[in-house]
Amino acid sequence: TQTQFFRDTWAEINLDYLTENIKNIKQHIASEEVKMFAVVKANAYGHGDVQVALTALEAGAHGLAVAFLDEAISLRKGGVEAPILVLGATRSMDVKLASSHNISLTTFGMEWLEEAAEELDQTSSLNLHIKCDTGMGRIGVRSTEELKRMESFIQSSSKFNLEGIFTHYATADELDDAYLDQQLETFEEMLAVLDERPLYIHSSNSAAALRKPKTHFNAVRVGIAMYGLSPSQEMKEVLPFPLKEVFSLHSRLIYAKELEAGDKVSYGATYESAGDEWIGTIPIGYADGWLRKLQGQQVIVDGKRCPIVGRICMDQCMVSLPGALKAGVKVTLIGHEADEAVSIDEIAEKLETINYEIPCIISTRVPRIYI
Ligand code: PLP
Repeated sequence: TQTQFFRDTWAEINLDYLTENIKNIKQHIASEEVKMFAVVKANAYGHGDVQVALTALEAGAHGLAVAFLDEAISLRKGGVEAPILVLGATRSMDVKLASSHNISLTTFGMEWLEEAAEELDQTSSLNLHIKCDTGMGRIGVRSTEELKRMESFIQSSSKFNLEGIFTHYATADELDDAYLDQQLETFEEMLAVLDERPLYIHSSNSAAALRKPKTHFNAVRVGIAMYGLSPSQEMKEVLPFPLKEVFSLHSRLIYAKELEAGDKVSYGATYESAGDEWIGTIPIGYADGWLRKLQGQQVIVDGKRCPIVGRICMDQCMVSLPGALKAGVKVTLIGHEADEAVSIDEIAEKLETINYEIPCIISTRVPRIYI
């Protein structure tokens, strides 16, 4: 982790809010039988993998889930000892590495199992979760016949332990349950053909964990809600408790000047001042994930909303200020300041995307500060 930085642009990660969100989610699920896996893939949705993982575990998460083996190893190297599940595909040639770090992998086909068995020696053991494709159409075993063959193969080999089985919903964040119910039914049909139920049976993401108890089984995989964001706009209306946004983004004015009528700002000289206007420059640009499409977005300076004017550059952008301000004044691009707030949802709307994308795209050049 970077502890020192020499540019006044940073993201704040509020670990108390993370803890509060997790405790509220656990309380809502209201069963000790249901374990929570904190989803910390993609550097914990841009928040910082190890810091989020350790805080989540302390707040009551049972284990962690990531997308790739590399991310799981990064957590182990960061001192995480709790169960870690890789949700995505892992190359069969890398199973020994997973086993040596006690990392659980996802399997979804006979061919992979046969290849993986070749890679492991008799003394190694690998924990596996079978992924069922019940309608997401991404990865997963699709027939009960293959599922049964996979179960037998795993059971007959001392190299494997069938630790879990799971599926993933395509529409859990929509209030119409028809497709989710269909997926759940398919999952139950798949579970019914197993000889033995593995330790973990899981299907819920945040949306399902928060509004569909039938999907809980005995474990849930929670990402977005833990970070204080609603899984969808629709779901904002039905959240069982308020979520607190963990991620905020800040900078400081590095320069401010008064423009006269006709003075131009930034590439293309597309912004022309009407005069008597103070313009501030902030050291953040599209290389930080503050994309050019955010031109016109308001940021908070001195407690007031101010628009970004002119084109956003790679490392800097300009703001029309409420008056004469000096270099050093704090700018909040995402988060609360005084009576104003810019939410991640507001930025997502401006970028015509979902809130998930926003902390993920704020690049690693922006240091994450844990508060
Ligand atoms: N499970 C799987 C398989 C996922 O891919 C994801 C994230 O996309 C999650 C769980 C967590 O989803 P959410 O962030 O909506 O809680």
